[in-house]
Amino acid sequence: MTTSRPKRLGLFGGTFNPIHYGHLRTAEEVTEALELTRLWFIPAALPPHKTGRLIPPFETRLEMTRLAVGRHSRITVSDIEGRRPGKSYSIETLRQVREEYGRDWELYFILGLDSILEITTWKDYAELFTLCHFVVLDRPGYDRGQLEAVLRREVHPQFQPLPDAAGFQHPGGAKVYFLATTLMDISATRIRGLVGQRCSIRYLLPERVRRYIIKNKLYL
Ligand code: ATP
Repeated sequence: MTTSRPKRLGLFGGTFNPIHYGHLRTAEEVTEALELTRLWFIPAALPPHKTGRLIPPFETRLEMTRLAVGRHSRITVSDIEGRRPGKSYSIETLRQVREEYGRDWELYFILGLDSILEITTWKDYAELFTLCHFVVLDRPGYDRGQLEAVLRREVHPQFQPLPDAAGFQHPGGAKVYFLATTLMDISATRIRGLVGQRCSIRYLLPERVRRYIIKNKLYL
C-alpha cells in the first residue's frame, strides 16, 4: 500500500503595488523547490502595514497580479482577502484556508526576510506558527542571522535550528525554511518612484503590467 504525501499549498501574500519580477521569479522557484501542488498570490485588500499612503484599489492590484501570472499550471491569484471586510490580516486568511482545506493540505506561507523580521507587528503572530510552515526569501540588505533571535525572543524560546542551516523548527512542529532564490533587488517602492519621475520601468515587471500602469496612469 502506498501512502500519498500531503498536498502542499503555498500562500504568497503582499500588497503587490505593483507585482514585479522579484515576486514572480521567487514564486516559480519556491513552487519548484518545495514541490508545491499550488501557489496562490494573495493581494491584500487593506494591507494593515501600509495605511499611511494612498494605495490603488484592491481590484486594480488584483488585475495587475492576474496579468502578471497569466496562465500557469500551479500558480494562481486568490481574491480571498477582497472577500472579507476590514483590514487584511494574514492570520484570518490562514484560519480560513485551514478551515476550508483541512489537514490534507500542508500550508506554506511565503514571505521576504524583511517581512518576517517584523513578525511581531502582525496580528496574533504566535498563532500563525500553529497553522502553517514558513518559507523565507532573502532580500538584499537583510541578514538571515537576525531571524533566530527574533523567533526565540518573540515567538517561542524553544525554536531549534534545522540541519544544514536550512531554517528553524517551532516546538509545535512548524518549520521556518530559508530558501535561496534568485536575489533580485527590485521593490514596488522603487517602481512607483520611477514612474513618478517619468523613468522607464521596462524589464522590472511583465510588459502587460507595465502597459496597464501606463494606460491607467498609476503612480503619477
Ligand atoms: P513595497 O516596496 O511597496 O514595500 P514590495 O516590493 O516589498 O513592496 P510587497 O507586496 O510588500 O512588495 O511584498 C510582498 C512579499 O514579497 C513580502 O513578503 C516581501 O518581503 C516579498 N518581496 C518583495 N520583493 C521581493 C523580492 N525582490 N525578492 C523576494 N521577495 C520579495
